[in-house]
Amino acid sequence: MRTIAALILCVCTAIASEPSLAALRVFACEPEWGALSSELGGERVDVYTATTALQDTHLIQARPSLIARVRRADLVVCTGAELEMAWLPVLLRRGNNPKVQPGTPGFFEAYAYVEMLEIPAQVDRAEGDVHALGNPHIQTDPRNILKVAEALSKRLITIDPADAEYFKGRYEAFKNRWTESILRWEKMGQRLRGVRVISDHKAWPYLYGWLARILRQGSRKLAKRSDV
Ligand SMILES: [Zn+2]
Repeated sequence: MRTIAALILCVCTAIASEPSLAALRVFACEPEWGALSSELGGERVDVYTATTALQDTHLIQARPSLIARVRRADLVVCTGAELEMAWLPVLLRRGNNPKVQPGTPGFFEAYAYVEMLEIPAQVDRAEGDVHALGNPHIQTDPRNILKVAEALSKRLITIDPADAEYFKGRYEAFKNRWTESILRWEKMGQRLRGVRVISDHKAWPYLYGWLARILRQGSRKLAKRSDV
């Protein structure tokens, strides 16, 4: 009898000390959104990231393990803009979780909060990897991360209003650190003037756009200095 009581006590203690029981379960399609969810959600989220940076996120298999993760998720955080069109709809359909279907607060697409580049005038799939909503590789401009962070923080509050103050505090802290980092990276970016670049996939227009703006600003500063 004492053994059973000890066993029950042991199980109860284990359950009580398991933080993920209370945490929101976040399913992130890409590592950047997994990392951002962890930054903004802290200990109130339990983040699972479906892919690694070494995988081609256009082409992921809708494995049973991923379906099981979607089935248990409270929030799905993905890029959208058709980046995951080959696998995410399958996960959502087979995961059959009403909390994370498109149109519900549990479904978050980052692309909706940034200015999209390369939106085609007309869509001709014969030209290969063409995205009707624009180029989905938005995470390479750090300013986009800040825009997505603001929206994602609000979404966490919508889903878990009891932790609103905690999420707001984490967002403010992240925003400050990220803004400082952007300033530092923009200084470093000045060194890239004249560097020739080749890309094997259209994954970098957001990075190039940001860097081009930095270099234009840098040359304006130089011009001003030479005027004096
Ligand atoms: Zn692509």
